Amino acid sequence: MEIQDSLKHLPELHAHISSSIAPHVYWHIANSEGYKLPKRDYHEFVKHVVLSPNRKMSLKEYLDTIYHPILNKLSAGALALEKGVYETFGGAYRSNNITLYELRGNPMKHNREGQVDLDHAIMAMIRGMERALLEYPKLRAGLIFCLDRQFTFEQNQIIVEKAIKYKRRGVIGIDFSNYNKQGFHFKDYTNLVAKARENGLKVTAHSGETDDTNDIWECIESINPDRIGHGVKAAYDKKLMKELAARKITLEVCPLSNLMTKAVKDDAEMERILKTFYDEGVQFSLNTDWPETIENGHLRDQYQYVLEKKMLSEDQIRQIVQWGFNATFIPMKEKESNLYL
Ligand SMILES: [Zn+2]
Repeated sequence: MEIQDSLKHLPELHAHISSSIAPHVYWHIANSEGYKLPKRDYHEFVKHVVLSPNRKMSLKEYLDTIYHPILNKLSAGALALEKGVYETFGGAYRSNNITLYELRGNPMKHNREGQVDLDHAIMAMIRGMERALLEYPKLRAGLIFCLDRQFTFEQNQIIVEKAIKYKRRGVIGIDFSNYNKQGFHFKDYTNLVAKARENGLKVTAHSGETDDTNDIWECIESINPDRIGHGVKAAYDKKLMKELAARKITLEVCPLSNLMTKAVKDDAEMERILKTFYDEGVQFSLNTDWPETIENGHLRDQYQYVLEKKMLSEDQIRQIVQWGFNATFIPMKEKESNLYL
């Protein structure tokens, strides 16, 4: 089988709404609403929001100066959310060979600090997804709701309740995102996560990206997630890798995102991490995290990047694509409609 064949159907398990909406879609939304943007020219706007090897930023800096104040704001409200989600899924299927797409977002980050009713925001996401699923019957898609490490427990509890409420409409799981506020502990969430699970939701959590392996240990011991977002720091802890392999926790590795935010130093370190996971039997998938806010960051480009740099072999890539499909939270029944009916 040609390698191109193995890239014909790709799973995307880790991408955030705000960084999956293409700049031209943001431009359209902003101009439709009449928003003032940090740059008046389209190309300057793209340069401002997109990271590249010549424009790296720490995760915290990017989140604090671009992601939260600009992208989350532009993708807030029912109209923007419906259009953003719809365009994201369609674009991924048409141009990136993505046939399975799990898109994640925190509905409370897209409701203009409470001015937009949360159910309206959520239904807008669902409408965007349903329109794309109707148009592309071979695409499977689902939404993951992100809890936030900076939020209070009570806020996060509301997000879990909403995820449960909309499970039948295509919300497939919950996630923990953002960097830590002091006092955040996974152990405080054991019962809430158990409740999500009892209601049929799957669980993933950002961990081991910029924080250390202690965070991953606490994560798996407290909430035993089905998958972990990033987890790259685990490559430096043999005991932890053994534990991840034994629990069959799949890591959602996002190579270019980690390189652009300097969570991983360079290609050589990324190569070491990927090879170590493979050799230690830790299952992982390749994902974008931020497909539209990293230059050449689309999923297909990231696979090409890993292949061209010889970080993994073609056979290993085939295996990783398969691991990605195997680890999906989307209920996949043969011949069943891709709509949640
Ligand atoms: Zn992420």
